[in-house]
Amino acid sequence: NTKTILVTGGAGYIGSHTVRLLAGLDYHIVVLDNLVYGHKEAIVNDSVELVQGDIGDEELLQELFKKHQFSAVLHFAAYAYVGESVSDPHKYYVNNVARPLTLLKTMVDHQCLKFIFSSTCATYGNPEYVPLDESHPQNPVSPYGKSKFLLEQMIKDYETAHGLKYVFLRYFNASGASEDGLIGEDHNPETHLIPLILDAITGDRAAIKVFGTDYPTPDGTCVRDYIHVNDLGNAHIKALEYLNKGGESLACNLGTGFGYSVMEVIKAAEEVTGMPVPYELAERRAGDATELVANAKLALEKLGWDPKYKEISDIIQTAWNWKTGTRKGRF
Ligand code: UDP
Repeated sequence: NTKTILVTGGAGYIGSHTVRLLAGLDYHIVVLDNLVYGHKEAIVNDSVELVQGDIGDEELLQELFKKHQFSAVLHFAAYAYVGESVSDPHKYYVNNVARPLTLLKTMVDHQCLKFIFSSTCATYGNPEYVPLDESHPQNPVSPYGKSKFLLEQMIKDYETAHGLKYVFLRYFNASGASEDGLIGEDHNPETHLIPLILDAITGDRAAIKVFGTDYPTPDGTCVRDYIHVNDLGNAHIKALEYLNKGGESLACNLGTGFGYSVMEVIKAAEEVTGMPVPYELAERRAGDATELVANAKLALEKLGWDPKYKEISDIIQTAWNWKTGTRKGRF
């Protein structure tokens, strides 16, 4: 049965949106999430089984793999605060590198040999050129980026030794919320630009700081490739279908190919909401690259993935609908 899958981190931001899309396609889904950062309320389909636990808990994993015949694992579970990874690298190497090895070992034990891994453009480090394609050198700067890079490297060895097939999905800037406003982006603490902007608009938070205005970009602020969370989710579904059809292991970027500066995002948020964004100009944030934009042609070619959301204003609109909708945007 190719329809029973394990989703680690399925209660997190990107995981929960992907789980919703998969559940609508009749996949039988077991979510494993320790709920450190995930929200159980973000799992909205009754058909989805939530197991609260850790990807490093060997006994629990053995039990789960004995109970279910998983055909594939979607591995979202990870810590993802770049700044925190600099001050506490141990936390990142344990959670993002060491613990997943227990998951990989259990998969091999049970001959579950399809793995879809949430990787990141942070594995490339500071771009030598943009847009970034998958053959750009990987020189990650932060322990977060390194942790994702290291796990990529290890997974390749599981392919060589055990025939594990993988798709590495290297996300650019995940953003937006579900179209019906039911689930959205709710990090605690929140560090991401779009939710901080929307909070500043409503007064839920102080004015946002624009980190750096002297970058070599047209308006001096950093440029990012914002990709809608459901587009990311759909890429996972395509990747799963690709491996189910016998596709070879693959690493793909997931982005729109379009870059927006911080000031352009602020302007788009003002247009979408009809309200001013309180902001102040500030110093650069350590570790930020000037411009991160994807060349995502490989995902189109290999997976047939073409993101629906290409306009930043459409992405912001979904985030705004979630924030101002009946759920009031908080879990
Ligand atoms: N940014 C900003 N103010 C904030 C948060 C983010 O100016 O309060 C900028 C940040 O420097 C980067 C962009 O917005 O250029 C996107 O940052 P985010 O943290 O959302 O994602 P990242 O690109 O760091 O993964």
